[in-house]
Amino acid sequence: MVPAVPSGAAGRVQDVDITGTAQHEAWLARAIPPVEQLRGDLWSIPVPMGGPLRYVSVYAFALDGGGLGLIDTGWGSDESWTALQAGLDSIGGSVADVRGVLVTHLHYDHLGLAERLRQASGTWVAMHPADAAVVGSAEHRDPAAFVAAEIDFLVSLGADRDEAAADVGPAENMGHFSRMAVPDRLLTHGEHADFPGWRLRAVHTPGHTPGHLCFHEERTGLLFSGDHVLPRISPNISSTHSGTPDPLRDYLDSLAAMGTEEPAEVLPAHEWRFRGLRSRTAELTAHHEHRLGELLGAIRENPGSTPWQLAAHLTWSRPWDQYERRMRIFAVTETDAHLRLLASRGLVVSDGGTVPTWTPAAR
Ligand SMILES: [Zn+2]
Repeated sequence: MVPAVPSGAAGRVQDVDITGTAQHEAWLARAIPPVEQLRGDLWSIPVPMGGPLRYVSVYAFALDGGGLGLIDTGWGSDESWTALQAGLDSIGGSVADVRGVLVTHLHYDHLGLAERLRQASGTWVAMHPADAAVVGSAEHRDPAAFVAAEIDFLVSLGADRDEAAADVGPAENMGHFSRMAVPDRLLTHGEHADFPGWRLRAVHTPGHTPGHLCFHEERTGLLFSGDHVLPRISPNISSTHSGTPDPLRDYLDSLAAMGTEEPAEVLPAHEWRFRGLRSRTAELTAHHEHRLGELLGAIRENPGSTPWQLAAHLTWSRPWDQYERRMRIFAVTETDAHLRLLASRGLVVSDGGTVPTWTPAAR
């Protein structure tokens, strides 16, 4: 999931061209875009989901020797399953034809239908080992343990325990997350996916999740960017109880590594296709540098604050006190990710307490 934090405010660069014009028009009309044939043997299938993103684009590849390969699957609901079936049907296929599924990252809108696809077709499911480790962990497979860890983590960021428990919600709501597919294949950086007829190279782009993958198709020059680079919004970069110590640094490093390329077209998992990866990565980097500056200012004005307190001092897409519970978790863990990067740059220090408070570093 990616909460809607528009990222265009800081350092707007103009060289991003929308190539998914039908997707963009549908967006403006608040509609779901059509299934599109992008090449003779490649399609995008929008699979609807709730929330501000509206849909995830599943990419379907016709494979040499028959069958289909997919990048991502859609939100794990009956409605999404029906839409995916209808989409595959409209290109002359079916879920039974799926031979391989590449999952960009572990979030429910990408991995959610993988288990159902595996049961329907016997397909393999591949992910990066870092995300596979999270999905397969004992904590992730046990809703009660997952909820307890999430509450403890929010408390460690300064949340009141009762409020954190209310924000996280009951373990009963987490059951479907804990039953997501554990991949049966792993793909590391530089490896090629087993999609006969294609040259899809895995590009490890940690940040949004520890094992996020993009896929560079070497025959066509297309880049499948998952949630790593989206044309309009900035993907949520948050600290988590199961994640890496400095996810924003991971993300900015991944952007920098990717920003040297200029693919023929970028095919993201949400919103619309575009051209101009270098400009877009520059824009996303500028957005985070702007946020880091804003956070540093908030710490100077409110030294000795917890991440929970600091989040309330930042600008969000709506007033802080109107933020709903789940969004508040994203906001606080995103603030914490920015704090961790400020700390690793030597700009802020924590008091090292059980619930650390943050102060500008002495200069
Ligand atoms: Zn997503």
